Amino acid sequence: MNKQELWDNFGRTFRDFDLESGIYKAPGRVNLIGEHTDYNDGFVMPMAIEKEITMLAQLRPDRKVKFYSLDYDQMVEYNLDSLEYDEENIWANYIMGVIDEIQKLGSSLQGFNLMFTGNIPQGSGLSSSAALEVVTAMTVVDLHKIKIDGIEMALLAQRAENNFVGVQCGIMDQYISRLGQKGHALLIDCRTNDYQLVPFKDENYQIVICNSRVERGLVDSKYNERRSECEQAVEFFAEKEASEITALRDLDLETVEKYKDELAENVYKRAHHVVSENARVIESQKALEADELKKFGDLMYASHKSLSEDYEVSCEELDILVSLAAEAGVEGARMTGAGFGGCTVNLVKKDRTEQFIKIIKEKYKKETDIDAEVYISNPAAGARKI
Ligand code: ADP
Ligand code: MG
Repeated sequence: MNKQELWDNFGRTFRDFDLESGIYKAPGRVNLIGEHTDYNDGFVMPMAIEKEITMLAQLRPDRKVKFYSLDYDQMVEYNLDSLEYDEENIWANYIMGVIDEIQKLGSSLQGFNLMFTGNIPQGSGLSSSAALEVVTAMTVVDLHKIKIDGIEMALLAQRAENNFVGVQCGIMDQYISRLGQKGHALLIDCRTNDYQLVPFKDENYQIVICNSRVERGLVDSKYNERRSECEQAVEFFAEKEASEITALRDLDLETVEKYKDELAENVYKRAHHVVSENARVIESQKALEADELKKFGDLMYASHKSLSEDYEVSCEELDILVSLAAEAGVEGARMTGAGFGGCTVNLVKKDRTEQFIKIIKEKYKKETDIDAEVYISNPAAGARKI
């Protein structure tokens, strides 16, 4: 639907109050490199994708908020003074969470109607939830003319997911959805929350995302297990080396290797992944800045190997997708997201993309009996008013 069609739909859905209105967008994202580094105070490097959520809204003269999900064809209504978790309409909680956090800042809001639609695959690790939070924040803040900078808004959207939705996510998803820029990835330091735009200069390449369509079943329990193994490693190194070590971020590979024989095998392997992955993110930033895309691709393959063998969060299907990419001569490929399913991210020459997708679809189906889904994207813009 184009802008006019969306406004026509909005007009049929809600009464016109002749008050401030606007239309906003926020994208999903894919993490290019830096996996399982965020909770180790390390680095991540996502980019925004050309899939997004679009939201239209208009203020109302009372305390009511009405949300219409175009994709689910569902309407809900609440009062600004009594926002509570909605067990039935889960999607509405992402929106309420953001409103709740804005109200916590002390801003006095008035009611509004909003309608939204999106094309980010949901629950596939491309962060449709962060896009929904960020686009809501853009919408509500702009309609009320509240002053809040990009970082503050990203952190507010993260708090909405932590506090209202109840998912303990890090900062990456909301940061990139809010702060991403066309033609750039974003290097985020998860210790300081600082970020830098990283140019993705070579227009001969694009990013191809392959969805394994394997449900990320084991994620929660394995995630907690990995976190605790990382904590064990930190405790060990803090005792052996220096009490200033508070996260795996503070170690280099040499130190990890030095204690290989003293560490439990799993703990060594987890530390090895995180420490080497942090180094790969920094190397990737340099490679992209120097326009050395092939080098960046090699780092992506190395990241996958480390996630699969050392961190042990891949699965057969993700490994197959990465092997098929290597077979097809693609420059870079790795699993992306927490693992045990979800997507791979691939660095592909534009003129080879069609061929690559054909190979993936055919051979993945043959080996797994699953139809992979494939999305193509250049590094896209972050949230904006349109
Ligand atoms: P992910 O963020 O990886 O896509 P999540 O489970 O964190 O997966 O978030 C997905 C949820 O976000 C959906 O179940 C839904 O509640 C909400 N959501 C995302 N996109 C939309 C949309 N276009 N319309 C309605 N709800 C959406
Ligand atoms: Mg999410």
